[in-house]
Amino acid sequence: MEKGVYSIFLDEERCTGCTNCIKRCPTEAIRVRDGKAKIFADRCIDCGECVRICPNHAPIPQSDAREKTGQFRHTIALPDPALFGQFKTKPSPRQILAAVAALGFDSVYEVAWAADAVSIAIREFIQEHKGEGPWISSSCPVAIRLVQVRFPSLTEQILPLLSPVEVAAKLAKEEFSRQLGIPPQEFGCFYLTPCPAQVTAIRSPYHLEHSYVDGALAISGLYCELREKISRTPEQNEPVKATAPGLTWGRVGGQTRAVQSENYLAIDGINNLLQVFEEIELGKFNTNIDFLECQCCQGGCVGGTFTVENPFVARVTLRRMASQLRPKLELEEEQEVLEYYRKGYYRAEKDVEPYSIMCLDKDIAKAIYMVEQSEKILKQLPGLDCGSCGCPTCRTLAEDIVCGIATETDCVFKLRERVQSLAEQMLALALKVPPVTVVQRQIMKTQREVLELAKRLPPVLAKPNQEKEGK
Ligand code: SF4
Ligand code: SF4
Repeated sequence: MEKGVYSIFLDEERCTGCTNCIKRCPTEAIRVRDGKAKIFADRCIDCGECVRICPNHAPIPQSDAREKTGQFRHTIALPDPALFGQFKTKPSPRQILAAVAALGFDSVYEVAWAADAVSIAIREFIQEHKGEGPWISSSCPVAIRLVQVRFPSLTEQILPLLSPVEVAAKLAKEEFSRQLGIPPQEFGCFYLTPCPAQVTAIRSPYHLEHSYVDGALAISGLYCELREKISRTPEQNEPVKATAPGLTWGRVGGQTRAVQSENYLAIDGINNLLQVFEEIELGKFNTNIDFLECQCCQGGCVGGTFTVENPFVARVTLRRMASQLRPKLELEEEQEVLEYYRKGYYRAEKDVEPYSIMCLDKDIAKAIYMVEQSEKILKQLPGLDCGSCGCPTCRTLAEDIVCGIATETDCVFKLRERVQSLAEQMLALALKVPPVTVVQRQIMKTQREVLELAKRLPPVLAKPNQEKEGK
C-alpha cells in the first residue's frame, strides 16, 4: 500500500471539534485545528475507530460507486464471508448468493471458497517454515498497515500469501474467461466488502502490483436492497462451493479453524493487536506460536464499519450458516489447491514494505535532533494529555511543534501563561507613561482588566507541577 492512500473522508461541516476521535486513533493520525478535525493521510490505516467514536458522524468511510460496474462487459460479485452473518432471519447461504446475483451482477464467485484454498496454502507454508513464526495473517489490511507504520520490524513476519478476495478475483477471471471466451480484462470483479480498508487495499495493494479486484462496494450500501431480493428468492437446490471453515473466515477464530494450526493465536480488536505486536517486538512473546490470525475489528470482519448487524449476533448467525455447508473439501479439491500452491499461485508478488511515518525526519541525524528538541518542549508542557490543544497527547503536541505544524500556545496552559505575561508587560509599560489624558487612563483600566482575566484562564484545570509546588 502506498503512503497517503486511505478511504476515510472527514466532513468538516459535521465536525464540532469535540476531540473524541483524536485519542481513539491508534496511529495518532488526527488533529483538531481551528475547531475542525483533520486526518494526516500518511498515518491513517483505515481502522474505522474514528468512525465508530464520532458522535456527529463526521468521518465517513468511502467505497466505490455502483455505477462503476457499468464499465465492464461481464460483472462478477465477490461476497465476503462476513456478508452471510448480516441476515439472521431464515435465508440459507445459497439464497443469499442468488440474491447477490439478482442485484444485477452477471456472475457470483464465492470468496469463502477462495478462503478454503488460501487456508490450505497457509497450512503448507507454515509447515515448510516451521520455527520461523509467528506468521501474521495477511488478509486484514488494517493489521498489515498497523505493522507497517507502528511495528516495521515485524513486516517480515507477514505471510507472503494473497488474501482470499484477491485469489477469488484471480480464479474468477480465469474460470469465466475459459467458460465464456471473454478476455480476462473485460471482466469486472466487485468485492462486497465489510470494511473501507479493503477499498484502500484494492486501490493500493500491499502484495501485488495491481489488484485483480476492480471495485469494492460497501455491504451497508447494498443491505436494504439485498434483504428485499432475499425475501423474493426461493430456496435454491444448487450447492454452495465453500465449506463451513471457509465461510467462518468472516469471524474471529475462523481462519485458525480453517488452517488447522495447532499453535495459533486468534486476535481481534485494534487494542489487542497493538498489545500483541508490542510484546512480539519486545521479544516477550511465546515463540511456539506459528500463526497469528489478526483482525482489527471486534469479532472479526463481521464487526467491520461497512456491516449492519451487531457483531456478536453476526458471529452466531455465521456459525449457524456454516453448519449448513459441507465440513471440508474433497480430497481431489485439496490436491488441486496443493498443486496450485506448489506452482506459486497464491504467493505475493511483492513484500510488505515498512513505513517510517512515526519518525520525525528521514534524515536520522535530523530526526535525533528533533526528538531531543521535542523532549525539551515536552518537559515544559503540563503532561495532562487533556487533548484541548487538538493533539492526542502532550508528546504529540511537542512533536508537532518541532515539525512546525503547531505552536506552544496551542496548549491552553501555555496560552494562559503567555496572556498573563503580556498583560503584565503592558501594565508595566503603561505605568512608565504619565497618565495625562482620559484615553490613556482608559487604556490602563483595560490593561488591568486583561490581567485579571488572564489570571482566571483556564479556571477548571490545575497544572500538576504547580500543585506539587503548593502554588
Ligand atoms: S469526534 Fe472528531 S470528527 Fe467527530 S466531531 Fe469530534 S472532533 Fe470532529
Ligand atoms: S480510520 Fe483509524 S487510523 Fe484513520 S484517522 Fe480514523 S482512527 Fe485514525
